[in-house]
Amino acid sequence: VSKPGVTVLASKISKIYVDEITSKVEAIKPIRPQGPLLVGFLANADPAAEMYASWTKKTSEGMGFRYELRRVDNKDFLEEAIIEANRDPEVDGIMVYYPVFGNAQDQYLQQVVAKEKDVEGLNHVYYQNMYHNIRYLDPNNSLKSILPCTPLAVVKILEYLKVYNNLLPEGNRLYGKKCVVVNRSEIVGRPLAALLANDGAIVYSVDIDNIQKFTRGEGLKFTRHHVEDLGPFSDELLQKCCSQADVIITGVPSEHYKFPTQYIKEGAVCINFSSNRNFEESVKTKASLYVPMTGKVTISMLLRNMLRLIENAEKSKTP
Ligand code: NAD
Repeated sequence: VSKPGVTVLASKISKIYVDEITSKVEAIKPIRPQGPLLVGFLANADPAAEMYASWTKKTSEGMGFRYELRRVDNKDFLEEAIIEANRDPEVDGIMVYYPVFGNAQDQYLQQVVAKEKDVEGLNHVYYQNMYHNIRYLDPNNSLKSILPCTPLAVVKILEYLKVYNNLLPEGNRLYGKKCVVVNRSEIVGRPLAALLANDGAIVYSVDIDNIQKFTRGEGLKFTRHHVEDLGPFSDELLQKCCSQADVIITGVPSEHYKFPTQYIKEGAVCINFSSNRNFEESVKTKASLYVPMTGKVTISMLLRNMLRLIENAEKSKTP
């Protein structure tokens, strides 16, 4: 008997965006004849970052962008290098491969990148808009705010998998859905929990210390999510949260971590964004839809953000 579940690869999901992005790059040829320029800063010796960089280069060039990797051997010069790129009108987008210092200084560097060139969507203005469920940068709702690319990629994956119900009004399309997110980093897990809750879901946000609940309240009465502490992390509490979860998303950066298959509700949607596979092979005996990696969709979102930044800049130019 064949198993009812299906594994869906990120490459398949990103295909729609690859086509959309490629034709947009073509359409802006009059203002960017050589293609938009993305600059990546690499200031660490992390082989994973190196791989991600070469992958970004290949993908972006394949869609008509220009990509330039700038290596900064002495991290103390990175800030200057970013500022120079901020000022350079040739540069459309900037990304930095983190961790650089591996501490709060990295958060400072995120804010050094000009928000007009911040393809990763890490600028405080974008984060605050996201947490406050504000979707535009201007009062006329013509300039869309930028979302951090990995959380956005997971949202797009959930749309592709039809967990988002498009019969419901935009902004409420996850109404009633229960999601578990195992990771609460400031880069992915926390913004992701907020985005899903802002769209109407009940989200159990799990980290190594505790479990929190993100919701817009009963009947989605709040315009943005609220957070409630459910208690310290325990397997019992995790299992309880999972027992009714329609979606389980993992992002634990460890090759030893495996999400317990027995906690997964039959027919749940399972997505892993960690570079380590957080689900056992047996996930396929429980999940209806399983997405083992998300990186390809993330890169698409990065390039899509870059086009949006260019679009916003054009729209902001006074005629
Ligand atoms: P991080 O170290 O900042 O955060 C890890 C999170 O996982 C923390 O919230 C931590 O409490 C939680 N955690 C760790 N062990 C746990 C456990 N046993 N149970 C419950 N929670 C646990 O890492 P990060 O920057 O969020 O990155 C996480 C992973 O996602 C990495 O593998 C990274 O490479 C990957 N990543 C992927 C993409 C992508 O596009 N696919 C983008 C960014 C990061």
